[in-house]
Amino acid sequence: MQIPSQFKLFHQTWHIRLCQPMEIGDDLGQTRPDLFEIVLNPNQSAESMLHTLTHELIHAIETKLKLDMTENQVDLIALGLLDLFRSNPNMLTLLGPQPQLDSPAEEPDND
Ligand SMILES: [Zn+2]
Repeated sequence: MQIPSQFKLFHQTWHIRLCQPMEIGDDLGQTRPDLFEIVLNPNQSAESMLHTLTHELIHAIETKLKLDMTENQVDLIALGLLDLFRSNPNMLTLLGPQPQLDSPAEEPDND
């Protein structure tokens, strides 16, 4: 699994890295808005890592927007987004930098 080492959010560059042993205790991940950094615990399955990354990305958003969401709210939104994008891969294409808003393909003309 290739996790990007950085991302942009609201015109600010954030960094993503794996933590050092004991750096974040038993946490699976941490978001450090003061450092524009997300730290992930490497000791988790790939599926857990994706959930944790999504969870931390939502923390980055909610912190910057001062939403003051609870851990449970952040986690459930992460779960919802993962399901949404996995169930509808085209949604990511639509929301990407070059929206694909073409009209549906026409039926082949069989005449
Ligand atoms: Zn959290």
